[in-house]
Amino acid sequence: MNGPSVGTPVEPCDFTVFGGTGDLALRKLLPALYLRDRDGQLPDGFRIIGVSRADVDDDGYRAMVEGALAEHVAHDELADDVVRRLLGRLHHVTLDVEDVGAWHRLHDRLKDGAAGEDVIRVFYLAVAPALFGPICEHLDQVGLATDRSRVVLEKPIGTDLATAETINEAVGRVFDESHIFRIDHYLGKESVQNLLVTRFANTFLEPLWNSHWVDHVQITVSEALGVGERGSYYDRSGALRDMVQNHLLQLVCLVAMEPPTYVDRETVRDEKLKVLQALRPLTPELVDRDVVAGQYAAGLSGGVLAPSYADEVGHESSTETFVALKTEVQNWRWAGVPFYLRTGKRMSERVSEIVVVFKEPPHPMFPHSEGPTEPNRLHIRVQPDEGMRLHMTAKEPGPGGIRLRPVSLDLSYAAAFGGRSPDAYERLLMDVVRGNTTLFMRRDEVEAAWAWVTPILDRWSRPSHRPRRYPAGTHGPVAAVTLLERDGRSWQETE
Ligand code: NAD
Repeated sequence: MNGPSVGTPVEPCDFTVFGGTGDLALRKLLPALYLRDRDGQLPDGFRIIGVSRADVDDDGYRAMVEGALAEHVAHDELADDVVRRLLGRLHHVTLDVEDVGAWHRLHDRLKDGAAGEDVIRVFYLAVAPALFGPICEHLDQVGLATDRSRVVLEKPIGTDLATAETINEAVGRVFDESHIFRIDHYLGKESVQNLLVTRFANTFLEPLWNSHWVDHVQITVSEALGVGERGSYYDRSGALRDMVQNHLLQLVCLVAMEPPTYVDRETVRDEKLKVLQALRPLTPELVDRDVVAGQYAAGLSGGVLAPSYADEVGHESSTETFVALKTEVQNWRWAGVPFYLRTGKRMSERVSEIVVVFKEPPHPMFPHSEGPTEPNRLHIRVQPDEGMRLHMTAKEPGPGGIRLRPVSLDLSYAAAFGGRSPDAYERLLMDVVRGNTTLFMRRDEVEAAWAWVTPILDRWSRPSHRPRRYPAGTHGPVAAVTLLERDGRSWQETE
C-alpha cells in the first residue's frame, strides 16, 4: 500500500517466469506485464525470460506470447508498438529444472544482460509446488540467488501444514523472508486494498467495526464455472485447499484485523497473523456442525445443462467443490460475532463479496410505520464490478404517515474513478520488482492458515466422508443454508 504510485517506472529487472509457457503465465502474467509496459512502467533493460520444458527458441516464444496477448488482453488495450516492445523483451530458455546439468543455460542467459550483476532478478515460480525447493536450490548453486533476487511463489503452498513447512524450509534456506513473495492475487485487488483504506483512512466506520454494532460477517467467493480442464489438479485439491485456506482466510484477516501502526509490510502482516491465531480452533465436533462440504451434481447453469463434477473429472470423487463454514475471531473486538464463509464452483453466478451486517436499532422507534426495517449492511464487492454499497433504511417521500424503504449508497469504482481497474497481477508484479512485500503472505501467515484448516482436512480424510450434492447453477447444498438459518440468519444473495 505504501511506496510509489502504480505508474512509477520500476528499476531494470530480469523477470524470469518458470512455467513461462503455462496457462498462468500466458493468461495472467504476460498480459499484466504488457499492461504495465503500455503504461510506461517497464524501463529499457527490463527483460522477461520464460523458462519451461517446451522446445521453443526466443522467436517461437514471442509468437506464443503474441497469440496469448491477442487472446487475453482487451482489444482496445492492445497497441502494436507496445506489443512489439514487449516481445522485444522476451527470451525463452528450454530447461527441465530437475536436470541439474542444464541449468547453465539459464545462468548464461541471465549473465549476458546489459544491466550486469546489479540488475534486480525476479524468479516467478509458476510451476508445481514440488519444484519450488529444487528450483531455489539450483538458483543458489548457479549463483543467481543474490541480494538483488526475489522469488515469487504461486499457490498452492503445500497441501497441508507439513508440506507447506517443507516448502517454506527449502525456499528459506536460499532466500531471506524479505525476498520471498507468496502471492495471493486477492490481496492485489483494488476493492480489497480499498477495504483497508475505507477502514483506516476514515473515522466513521471504525467505532462501529466490532461486536457492539456488527451482527455478523459473510464472505462469499463463488464461481459459475466448473473445474473444466483443471480437473486432475482440482481433484487432488478441493475448495478448502484451493480457496478457503488462502483467499477466504486472507479476506477474513483484512476485515477483522486491528489498525496497524502504519500500513507497511510487517505491521499489516503482524495484524493479519493475529487474526488467524484468534480463529476459534476447530474440534471434530465443530467441523461436523459448522463446516459443510458440497460437490456439484448436473444442473442448469446459465440456461445450459452442466455436467456433474464426477462426470467432469471422469470418476466418482469425494473432493469438495463447495465449502461453507462458520467461525469466530476470538478477541475483544469480535467475540460472539459469527463469520460465515462460503465458496464454490458451478454456483448461480461469479461473485466475490464481503457483507458486514450490522445490528438492528436497539429500540423500534417507528412502531406505526409501514415497510420493512432491515439492518444496515455494507457490501464490499471484490468482483465483478468492484465497489461498495451501504444499505440503509430511509423514509419514502410523501405526505402522511412514515413509510420506510431500504435504499443504498453506492460506490462503484468504475463510476467514481472511471477508467480501467488494473488487474491484481499488474500491481503485485510491480510490487515484487520494487521489493514491497506488504501485499504478500508471510511464512507464519500461511502456516497459521494451514494449521487452522487441519482439523477439517483430518475429518474429511475419513473414507466415510461424502460432500453433499448441489445442483449446478445454485447457491450450494441445503446444509449451507441451514448453517445460517439455525442462527436466525440467511445468506445475502446478490440483488
Ligand atoms: P501448466 O500446466 O499450464 O504449465 C506448467 C508450466 O510449467 C509449463 O510451462 C511447463 O513447461 C512448465 N514445467 C513443468 N514442469 C517443468 C520442469 N520440470 N521444468 C521446467 N518447466 C516445467 O500450469 P499452470 O496452470 O500455468 O500452473 C502453474 C502453477 O501455478 C501450478 O502449480 C498451479 O497450481 C499454479 N496456479 C495456476 C493458476 C492458473 O490460473 N493457471 C492459478 C493459480 C495457481
